[in-house]
Amino acid sequence: MDLSIIIPLFNEAESLPPLYDWIKRVMDENKFSYEIIFINDGSTDDSWKVINDLKSKDDCVKAIRFRRNYGKSPALFCGFEKAQGDVVITMDADLQDSPDEIPELFRMIKEDGYDLVSGWKKKRYDNTFTKNIPSKIYNATARKVTGIKLHDMNCGLKAYRLDVVKHIEVYGEMHRYIPYLAKNAGFSKIGEKVVVHRKREFGKSKFGLERFVNGYLDLFSLYFLNKFGKQPMHFFGLWGSIMFLIGFIAIITVGAIKIYHLCNHMPAPLVTDTPYFYIAITMMILGTQMFLSGFVGELVSRSNVERNKYQIAEEL
Ligand code: UDP
Ligand code: MG
Repeated sequence: MDLSIIIPLFNEAESLPPLYDWIKRVMDENKFSYEIIFINDGSTDDSWKVINDLKSKDDCVKAIRFRRNYGKSPALFCGFEKAQGDVVITMDADLQDSPDEIPELFRMIKEDGYDLVSGWKKKRYDNTFTKNIPSKIYNATARKVTGIKLHDMNCGLKAYRLDVVKHIEVYGEMHRYIPYLAKNAGFSKIGEKVVVHRKREFGKSKFGLERFVNGYLDLFSLYFLNKFGKQPMHFFGLWGSIMFLIGFIAIITVGAIKIYHLCNHMPAPLVTDTPYFYIAITMMILGTQMFLSGFVGELVSRSNVERNKYQIAEEL
């Protein structure tokens, strides 16, 4: 099978029939063999009924219905598990992504050898203040942190080699960082294609401004997990030790000041009169705590059943 098209959806009943017709037209024109996998993420509208109608006239349609709304990442995760096509496409259900982009995305994976190609909504038809500007800032941060030079990390329209989706685990709200997950799993040929973006015709966006707060927090979790997840002591142990050392030097200084005054028969100041005393307690307490966090983290990662799971690309 050439293509698996994965479409997560939450209350998008009106968009589904035109989206399906459009995809089918593109597939037939290009003579692709394909499957369309709809993941109904706990919709409360007629989406599931519409999908049933589509399924009854076309066997290429497959669908999963969640009992409740879990979110876009869990929906993609289940779609990835089912996918069978050589190239996997993900796209939003709201008609903002154009199926006309699929043949070129397919070609880039098949012929140019990309592991993953992400869409880039260069000209975007969303609200400037709530979406476009925050998205630019967010993408700039993501580029810095992840080292992946994409303009639009969170574009819903993406193409993957089948191998990629079978070896990454999207969870929580990590769909925003799939290219980073892929990179961390060892798939480094990540490309970008400018794609046509369209106005939302029906319904409304499912993500509000909280996406940016959560997005940032997730980015830093991923960064730390990737960098120190397997050896927490390298981060916490190092900084804990440095802080403890500063505290230790401060306490020696406090003692030295006291002894100096006593030896010279001068009235010695109280230890609480010098700032070194306060530096010493804070640093030593914080340092010990950080060190212990690192040690506990190390114990946790050591008892993780997946501690020795590696991505083996080939064996001879
Ligand atoms: N979506 C989903 N579960 C959710 C939220 C969104 O499956 O909990 C789907 C939604 O139906 C759409 C896609 O994810 O197909 C992108 O959502 P939306 O268009 O609201 O995001 P935006 O384009 O505003 O970034
Ligand atoms: Mg949308």
